[in-house]
Order: sequence, then structure tokens, then C-alpha cells
Amino acid sequence: MELQSISEAKAKQTAPASSHSETTTTLPQQASTEPVKSWTIEDSENLYRIPGWGEPYFAINAAGHITVSPQGDRGGSLDLCELVESLKRRNLGLPLLIRFPDILEDRIERLNACFAKAIARYNYPGVYRGVYPVKCNQERHLIEDLVRFGQPYKFGLEAGSKPELSIALALLTTPGSLLICNGYKDREYIETAILAQRLGKITIIVIEQLEEVQMAIEASHRLGVKPVLGIRAKLSAKGIGRWGGSTGDRAKFGLTVPQIIQAVEQLATAGMLDCLQLLHFHIGSQISSISVIKDAIREASQIYVELCQLGAGMKYLDVGGGLGVDYDGSKTNFHASKNYNMQNYANDIVAEVKEACEERQLAAPTLISESGRAIASHQSVLVFDVLATSDVPLETPPEIVEKDHLILRNLAETYHSITAENYQEAYHDAMQFKEEAISLFGFGYLSLGDRAKAEQFYWGCCQKIQAIIQHSEYVPDDLEDLEKIMASIYYVNLSVFKSAPDSWAIDQLFPIMPIHRLDEEPTQRGILADLTCDSDGKIDQFIDLRDVKPVLELHALKPVDPTASDPAPLEPYYLGMFLAGAYQEIMGNLHNLFGDTHVVHIKLTPQGYQVKHVIKGDTMKEVLGYVQYDGEDLIESIRQQAETALQQDQISIEEAQRLLQNYERTLSQYTYLS
Ligand SMILES: *Cc1c(COP(=O)(O)O)cnc(C)c1O
Repeated sequence: MELQSISEAKAKQTAPASSHSETTTTLPQQASTEPVKSWTIEDSENLYRIPGWGEPYFAINAAGHITVSPQGDRGGSLDLCELVESLKRRNLGLPLLIRFPDILEDRIERLNACFAKAIARYNYPGVYRGVYPVKCNQERHLIEDLVRFGQPYKFGLEAGSKPELSIALALLTTPGSLLICNGYKDREYIETAILAQRLGKITIIVIEQLEEVQMAIEASHRLGVKPVLGIRAKLSAKGIGRWGGSTGDRAKFGLTVPQIIQAVEQLATAGMLDCLQLLHFHIGSQISSISVIKDAIREASQIYVELCQLGAGMKYLDVGGGLGVDYDGSKTNFHASKNYNMQNYANDIVAEVKEACEERQLAAPTLISESGRAIASHQSVLVFDVLATSDVPLETPPEIVEKDHLILRNLAETYHSITAENYQEAYHDAMQFKEEAISLFGFGYLSLGDRAKAEQFYWGCCQKIQAIIQHSEYVPDDLEDLEKIMASIYYVNLSVFKSAPDSWAIDQLFPIMPIHRLDEEPTQRGILADLTCDSDGKIDQFIDLRDVKPVLELHALKPVDPTASDPAPLEPYYLGMFLAGAYQEIMGNLHNLFGDTHVVHIKLTPQGYQVKHVIKGDTMKEVLGYVQYDGEDLIESIRQQAETALQQDQISIEEAQRLLQNYERTLSQYTYLS
């Protein structure tokens, strides 16, 4: 960088649009677009904000590849790009979901360490017993790992439905751990949960609807076993963001304060008030603001102490989920971020509950949290490849002659006079002239050839202007659309509906970036379009420090052999989607019949890594089976049609054989492109 005089630097701050110095702007007419300084991996780190969302698990190595340190700061790392290449050699094509159980272990350790630290710091006279909500990711290997990793902390599970209860009952064998039973319950659910106590389990039935109180009382009488009961409270503390509706009087779950009092009375009448031992609340997922969490804890602590004083056998306070994940790394209360860390979260819970109990001289409860997102998000990375790109064509503007229509001459003049000083005005002129040209064409004053010229000039102007703003720190608001207009489309081997349903359904942001070539400047700006033939199957919002970006910085695809003529085979270009380990897999759907991706579990070893489990993705036959097609029937139908065509001399035997073989082979293949 060249030294700037102070007045120049100041000018840059106050009037950024017009202060481009030659050193930072590469104008398109300068044919050799030599970058001012060469691109470094630090530039990539900053651009994709890895330290913000990725630490301590993800970084970039000297080769410009993403590295994964599954044990955080405490262990070795592996090269994600090399891992993908080596998995491809094992016949595992993309898209590929790579799970790192070490990350899961690290998350559990962290959460428990934060609560342990808070308990020590505030001299809290009680313990923390976290549970993992099974609904975040129910995959068997993951739950098995989680139970094992949680043993030192007596970490438990939370079930939100009957099938999830079945999983939790069978897999949670850690002595002293809690099994929280949430969700809608019928008689069978409640009986099963109560009887499981006979297996030595601590099952806590959380009353979410008033009717469940009576059901629990009856089940207890029938079985002659006293249950451990909890109550989910509808707090008046306001939730925030997308899941804000999980709290308040109109929330789907939980008891209002008058209902809580009714429940207490019913239990007292049945002589079971000692069974009521837990107070639970859940104010929604991804709570981005710590003040919301504080308000909720404060309110819940008061309800807790009141329940103690009403004579309930209170022992547990369960603060639910909501612990956020910083998807964009901005540390703000933006919906894709959070303005607190895990330690702040634990501190506030411990401090608030301690204060409320001390004031009334009550024993401190065992603290429970049901963090799902914060535990399961980081442990997997989805790697997918780019199949092709489509760019706005590079226009070389045509010649203009004296007799050309005025509008064309205006466009040409605009094009040729664009500078770093006037580009904003030129952009508006070019847009206006193009629109005029199109309406003149509509009235028959311009020929098709004239219209083509007008469009070429227009795109030429856009390109010139984009080259100017691409290198500037400040882009005037009215030029933001230009980035979108000029964005390339990157066609990716992925179904958004299957692998990132929340991106489609609720505009959730996940960090997405190339996993290699990070020592090269990404010169393209693109959006991602998936394999489905649904126009919603795209990703056009990306994380940014402020708000969101409409385009992602990407690299141009490279031909394997630069001297080969078009269409030359291209080098693979791999992208990774990070922090999507919670909720996405199970909520993904079969739109266009794209099935489950391959999943591998990678465990770090002293020598490197080990591929622990491989779960092959769906084949076409399998997804067709979900919609009641039988593969053999389909093949038989094609065979018969081929036979008929053969008899009518429309197909040769060889062609028919080839068709059948292709058809059969396809059915046993991955639903994604290879
Ligand atoms: C979904 C849910 C959770 C998990 O919330 P996260 O924000 O993912 O931690 C916890 N408890 C209940 C009752 C839930 O419904």
C-alpha cells in the first residue's frame, strides 16, 4: 500500500465513492488486471469470516485448504480437501456429509465446563445436569456417541415425541443422567416413562397441557408407582426472532400461571404434590440476545421459588434450549448471530437462580439445559461440488456509426465515458437509456439488431461499473442491485430442500465457502442454484459482518488442461456448508426425489484419521420406494416396451439391451450427479 497524505485518507472516509486512487482500482480498460497485492489466506479468512464462526474447529492451511481441528485447540487437524479426495477414491461421491464426532465431544465438554465454571464462580450450591434434545439430530451413531461422551457429566436426553422416547429409553444408560419427557403424551407414553423408573432411569414427565396432570395421576394409581413430574411454564418474557412464538400466552406448549396453580391443586388433592419436582420453560431456539435469556430466567426463578412455597417437591429447574450459534460470526443480536457466549449464558443462569433461591432461603435446584443447536451444529460439514457456472456474457460493445439511432449513440457515449468519478450517474443513465431502447423497440422504431446493440452496451456499462465498485470499500446503496444483476450462477450438486431446508423455509444463514483455492483471489460473485427444478432451490443470501450479502465470492472454474478447446473438462471445485449439523438432516425432504446424501464419520487418530462409519446415501430405487414404486416393476415395464418396439422394428436388440442396462444401473445409483 502506498502512503496516503492525511487529507487524502480523510477524503476517502468522507467521500468514498469518488476517491479511488489508481492503486486500489483496477479499471477494465487497463487490460492487464494485475492485482495490486497478491491474495493471501488471511484475506480469505477475513472474507469468509472464519475466525468469527469457525474457531476453534475450522481454519485455512498454507495450501489454501480448509483444515478441521475436531478436538478444538487440544488436538491435531486434517485437511478437508484431501479428506474429500480420499473419500472419493473410496467411491463416496459428492455431496457428502462429513461428521466429526470429536467436535461433538468437544461441544459437550465445553458446555459442561462453562456450567462448572459458573457454579464455582458463584458458589452455587447445586449441580448442572444437561440433556440433549433428540429432535436436533436423531441419527443413531450421533446419539450413541453423545451418550458416551456425556457419561463423565451424567449428560442426559430430552425426548419430544413417542418415537424419540423410544430412542432415549433404549440408548440412555448413564447412571444418574436425566431423561426429560416432553411433547404431546398419551396414556402409553406416560406409562412407559413411569415404568422406566423401575429400570433405574430418572424419567421426568413434563406436563405441557393441563389434561396431562390427570393422565399422570391415573397412570400412577394404576401402576402403583409415583412419577417424577415437571411443568412447562408459558413465560410472559418475550421470545425473540423466528421462534419467539414459543413463549407467551398463545404459545403452543406449556401452562399459564393460573393453569400451573390448577395443576398444583390437582396434584395436592391426589396426594402427589411431592412428585412435582421440575419447572421447565423453552422460549425458542437461537436466542440472539442475552437480555431475553436473562428476563426469562428471572421470571422462571420466581415461579420456581413460588412452587417450592406451595409445597411442591421442587428439585430441578430446566431452562430449555435457545443457546445460540454464531452463524455469521458477528457477535451481534442479528438472527444469524448472538451477542453472548456460552460462558455468559451459564453465568447468567447460575447467578439468577442462586439469587432467587437465596432470597427465600431455599435449596438450589439442579440446573438443566436442553441445548441442541449449540451441541450438534458444528459437528458436520456438507461438501458439494460445482457442476457448471453461467455468467453474464462478457460484452465487447459494437461499433457505432453516425446513422445509428440517438439512443444507441447515447448508450455508446455513456459506455465510453465511465470513470471512477462518474460511475454512479453513468449507471442510472445506462439503465434509463436501455429502458427507452426497449420501449422504442416495442413501438417499432428500433430493429432487432439495434436492440441487441443497446443491450450489449448496457451490459458493457454494468461490467465496467462493477469492475470499479468491486475494489471499493464503499458501494452506494443504489448500486447494490448491480451485484445481484451481474452475479454468476453456480450450479451445485445438492438439493437445498434435502440438505439445507431451513435456508429455503426460513432464510436461515449458514457459512458457505470454497474449501480449497483459498490462496487465490475469488474473482467471481455468484449465487448457488441447486439440482431441483424449483426456482426456490437456490441460495442467494450469505453471511456478512453486517446484515447479509446477496452474492458469494467464488473462484472461476478452471479447465483441467488450459490449452484444450471448449468444452474442456473442469477441475473440481468444492464448496462446504458449515454449522448445519442441527435440524437440517431430519427436516430435509425428498423434493424432486433427491435422497439422503452419503454420510461418513471421521475420527481423529494419532496417525491421522479413521473412517469410522459410512452410511451410504439413498439410491434411486430407495427413494422411488418411498413413493411406492417397485424397482423391479419399473424395469419390467421398460423391458416390455422395448420388446414391443423390437417387434415393430423400431429398436435394435443392441439398443434395447443398452437402454435396459442403463435403466437398471441408474436405479441402483446415488440420486445426485456423479
Ligand atoms: C427444540 C427444543 C429444544 C432445543 O433447542 P435449541 O435451541 O436447539 O437448543 C430444547 N427444548 C425444547 C422443549 C425444544 O422444543
